[in-house]
Amino acid sequence: MDLSLTPEQASFRSEVRAWLQEHVPTERLAPPGTPEGLEQHRAWERTLFEAGFAAVHWPSESGGRGLGPIETSLFYDEYLAAGAPERLNRLALGLAGPTLIECGTPEQRERWLSRMLSCDDLWCQGFSEPGAGSDLAALRTRGVVDGDRLRVSGQKIWTSHSRFADWIFALVRTDPDAPRHRGISFVMIDRHSPGVDVRPIKQMNHASSFAEVWFDDVDVPLANVVGDLHDGWRVAMVALTNERSSNLNTAAHFEQLLREVVDMVPDDRRQDPRVLERIGRAHEEIEAYRYVTLRTLTELSQGRRPGVQSAMGKLWWSQMQTRLHELGLELMGEDAELLDPAQATNGFVHRYWLGRAAHIYAGSDEIQRNILAERWLGLPKGR
Ligand SMILES: Cc1cc2nc3c(=O)[nH]c(=O)nc-3n(C[C@H](O)[C@H](O)[C@H](O)COP(=O)(O)OP(=O)(O)OC[C@H]3O[C@@H](n4cnc5c(N)ncnc54)[C@H](O)[C@@H]3O)c2cc1C
Repeated sequence: MDLSLTPEQASFRSEVRAWLQEHVPTERLAPPGTPEGLEQHRAWERTLFEAGFAAVHWPSESGGRGLGPIETSLFYDEYLAAGAPERLNRLALGLAGPTLIECGTPEQRERWLSRMLSCDDLWCQGFSEPGAGSDLAALRTRGVVDGDRLRVSGQKIWTSHSRFADWIFALVRTDPDAPRHRGISFVMIDRHSPGVDVRPIKQMNHASSFAEVWFDDVDVPLANVVGDLHDGWRVAMVALTNERSSNLNTAAHFEQLLREVVDMVPDDRRQDPRVLERIGRAHEEIEAYRYVTLRTLTELSQGRRPGVQSAMGKLWWSQMQTRLHELGLELMGEDAELLDPAQATNGFVHRYWLGRAAHIYAGSDEIQRNILAERWLGLPKGR
């Protein structure tokens, strides 16, 4: 086992580090849900695009850098360590774009890919519905074929970024008589079309980062279907595999989170050995997690799909994230309870800890445990 970088990888890392040092905004950007924040995030995405860093993992003929999983992971390690802003168009760059590259027609790639990279078009993902989340194949939004058009009606839910997105990549049922994993199509819908209604959901942490999206007889060209009509489940699996593979770079994310936790320790507790021990243990846990992600990277760079390995990584990641937030709250002491929600330090109390989002999205904890139980431990499949 050789974990050292090749000279090319080390040189790429230095290039990225130097560029980020020069360009990362020194002030935290406003949240993308505000008009000011949206413009700031778009401007940052354009800066990345102009430097050729918008989607380093995309093939060069599609506007990326054609980097493999290890170099992509190096890029994001540096990105997170530099405290660079959250990626605004990540659903396009991580899911919709790679899916178009693998399953789209040349016309579709020409139409959408470069506008994803430059952030001229912002995208959201319309998969989940009430009653179709973990059991995604239960989805009921209809797409009725009418000549060279689809007429889409139904409801999506938990659609992140839909308040300001321009396009939705969505799953719709185009053949209600087919077995449920067939008869689904993967379709690109213009979010500004007549009949699309976005209704924000107010979360208990006061944010509103996702919404319900309603479709009322929305007119969509059949040319916007990616892959064959009724073959959307296969296309969706391509998108979801890309989502799992793009969730790799989180050891650096947790290091960043731990730095924020350490910053929150009140001055009079900074030398307390109990505090130092807790921080040391969190650091150990992050280091152990780094090796889980390295195993996944090894599988990906050898052209294998990570499977069970990525289920373990996702479960570890969601659990560790909550433990780090709890550590932050504990170390803040009574301040944690007394904070005004609007002024919560670094957003910990309301934005992250109450949200618990990582236990749900990209496959809930229970679903990951099912995968580990069935495919790793060989236990019988649950009902
Ligand atoms: C922050 C956030 C952002 C999101 N963004 C998007 C988005 O942009 N686009 C989109 O389409 N969706 C999005 N989602 C939705 C997400 O994909 C779903 O919430 C997720 O798939 C779970 O579905 P559900 O909420 O319907 O819960 P359910 O599937 O109804 O699950 C409810 C509970 O039952 C458990 N459960 C379900 N099935 C099983 C089983 N077989 N065995 C054991 N336990 C089970 C679950 O783990 C969970 O605890 C987002 C979710 C979150 C939290």
